[in-house]
Amino acid sequence: MPVWLLDLDGTLYTDHTGLWPAISARITRYLEVRLGLSAEVAQALRRRWVEAYGTTLQGLLHERPDRADPHDYFAFTHALPLEAYLAPDPRLRRTLEGLPGPKWVFTNADAAHAGRVLTLLGVGDLFRGIIDLFATDLHPKPWTSAYRKALTLAGNPPPGEAILVDDRLSNLTAARPLGFRTVWVAREAAASDARRVDAVIPEIYALPRAFLALTGA
Ligand SMILES: [Mg+2]
Repeated sequence: MPVWLLDLDGTLYTDHTGLWPAISARITRYLEVRLGLSAEVAQALRRRWVEAYGTTLQGLLHERPDRADPHDYFAFTHALPLEAYLAPDPRLRRTLEGLPGPKWVFTNADAAHAGRVLTLLGVGDLFRGIIDLFATDLHPKPWTSAYRKALTLAGNPPPGEAILVDDRLSNLTAARPLGFRTVWVAREAAASDARRVDAVIPEIYALPRAFLALTGA
């Protein structure tokens, strides 16, 4: 029986909603406000931190621990009227309902945000639980420790049974050596990148097809 670990932002809903760009703008704004930076410097710092640590928050935790408060960070960056961006998605619901096995949200965000998103999409009841950044001891994807903790929380599925679905290639390539099967949600994927994961789908609705291909059914 497969065990699904599904990313949230950019995976269960797309960039077309405008939500991720809005969150991204709030992240830059957070660095401006909390660190007293110009927009240009904040953007450059974000790029460097994402490159070096995987996420902006990890950069903050490592390089500015004096100013790093994950709860404050998430409260600020997710302070958006989510209902203006997201609506119930019956097609997503049918997609998830058609897949066998327990499903978890596995996100570098916090469970409060993830819970609000799932409720607005109308799929909250389809998930066994939310594995957020606090659940993985503030270790984000693509850190090995985050995947190991997530596997433990998801009941230690045998190698090959855990399927990670994510829109970020680096999150998938890091998980694959740990026994995850990997599905990349990407509108465009170079062939050289596509070979680094087990399946590529243009949008989440194609997940059942990818599952059939993965399992050879
Ligand atoms: Mg994502």
